[in-house]
Amino acid sequence: MYQGIAAAEGYASGIVHLKRDWELLIETGNHYDPRQELARLEQARQEARLQLEEIRRQAAIDLGEDHAAVFDAHLMFLEDPEYMEAVESKIRQERLSSMAALAEVSDQFGQMFASLEDEYMRERAADLEDVSRRLLRILSGEQPEEESHAEQTVLVARDLTPSDTAALDRSKVIAFVTDAGGRTSHTAIMARSMQIPAVVGLKNITARVKSGDHMLVDGNRGEVLVNPTPEQIRMFHEREQEYREEQEALRRLIHVRTRTLDGKDIEVAANISRPQDVDQAIANGADGIGLYRTEFLYMNRLDLPSEEEQVEAFRYVLERMEGKPVIIRTLDIGGDKAAHSLDLPREENPFLGYRAIRLCLDRPDLFKVQLRALLRASVYGNLKVMFPMISGIEEYRAAMALVEDCQAELDRENIPWSKTIAWGITVEIPSTAIMAKEIASEVDFLSIGTNDLTQYTLACDRMSEKVSGLYDPMHPAVLRLIQMTIEGGHAWGKSVGMCGEMAGDPEAIAFLVRLGLDQFSMAPGGILSAREIILQSEAGDPVDKY
Ligand code: PEP
Ligand code: MG
Repeated sequence: MYQGIAAAEGYASGIVHLKRDWELLIETGNHYDPRQELARLEQARQEARLQLEEIRRQAAIDLGEDHAAVFDAHLMFLEDPEYMEAVESKIRQERLSSMAALAEVSDQFGQMFASLEDEYMRERAADLEDVSRRLLRILSGEQPEEESHAEQTVLVARDLTPSDTAALDRSKVIAFVTDAGGRTSHTAIMARSMQIPAVVGLKNITARVKSGDHMLVDGNRGEVLVNPTPEQIRMFHEREQEYREEQEALRRLIHVRTRTLDGKDIEVAANISRPQDVDQAIANGADGIGLYRTEFLYMNRLDLPSEEEQVEAFRYVLERMEGKPVIIRTLDIGGDKAAHSLDLPREENPFLGYRAIRLCLDRPDLFKVQLRALLRASVYGNLKVMFPMISGIEEYRAAMALVEDCQAELDRENIPWSKTIAWGITVEIPSTAIMAKEIASEVDFLSIGTNDLTQYTLACDRMSEKVSGLYDPMHPAVLRLIQMTIEGGHAWGKSVGMCGEMAGDPEAIAFLVRLGLDQFSMAPGGILSAREIILQSEAGDPVDKY
């Protein structure tokens, strides 16, 4: 049994197709004519551009605009002056072949990206490699390898690039398994949205299997079995059956009202990143959307999303939720989430730096586009707007002043907006949790972001593997801040929810109900089991005990 990282849920039993790492014959030596090689390089670039535009177009149809946008990053590398100039100067100065120059520079850049601390940037190493391989293949004159898969294929690869993933034949590939990758790699994100079980980060699985092997993939536990014994197969099917039955049994709760044993109504909502994720929220019986992370509208692209584009995205979610509450969080970019379109400065401590509301207040030009879009979309449903990374009431007031500017602008333009939007904040900085009672007097609702609250309270970077042992949302200090936030909100009769990962943790839910939490928001797949726990929990004292 091999243990990796569970990237996408589900079970699959199939036949391995080992994706060969394509071998290149690089033209070596220092005797190439620079003019000829530069011309070959330019031709290859043009061809790569055409190929990528076509893949992008196809991916937009098959997988949606969001996934297609990944290829913008590839197109961007093709145009990147630093990268291209480095290749050209090797051709000129060292008289290398275009292939050799490209291979050397991609190695250098790849290593540089891979050594960066920022996980998002590390993942760009995969994009760069994808583009370089495409260029090298074109330069070598080879045709792309046609992957033909048998039925029930488990694709095993060192890594899958976004273009590989987009090109998967979904009628035949039933799971995939890779040496590389983490839960936040594009490949893992795509697997979840394609609902293909996937295990990544297996380190050297490609060295341990061959095409034709029988493989069992457990996407829930992140486990993989190769040529299993009859006993292992039996156990695997038992687990799969159990999982199916659990999923099936939970379906009875889809339309059930989320109410505790002692009669408190609680909202179990979904976290989404893209408008189309709303389908999963609905399929899992979400009482609302508790966190729509709008920064994904800004990522993996070269330009900024327009007001119109944002209105459409927000309107879609609001309309599909048919009057159920939808909390849209304003842009939370920075920290681990980079956006090429914003050209943010590099910082020593990005999580403590220029991000989220801090950036938005500093860039009203950018922020107001989103605020106007939110106001305009508000007439299509039950909108609540949440500001991320609020560290004190002044930031909330400053954000609301910009909201008022936008409202006045829209009035002048005779564009309608809803007067019933609720305005709230994410409580994810300890200062805000400590001052929750004072802040709650001004805001309409609070939602606790435990992912950041935990890292700030315990001074423990949520991305660092080295200190992950310290990262504990159940630490009494974090729990006390959660309690203070709930009490602070309730003192003013305001709803207090939670949208960090802790909200979906089966071990924490009953306890949080007891603390008085009013709303839980989590990945759609966790909603029904959370509801099941809440139905068997007691809230204790009534909410208005303060
Ligand atoms: C959080 O910090 O808990 C949160 C929900 O926001 P994000 O994970 O997007 O930072
Ligand atoms: Mg956060």
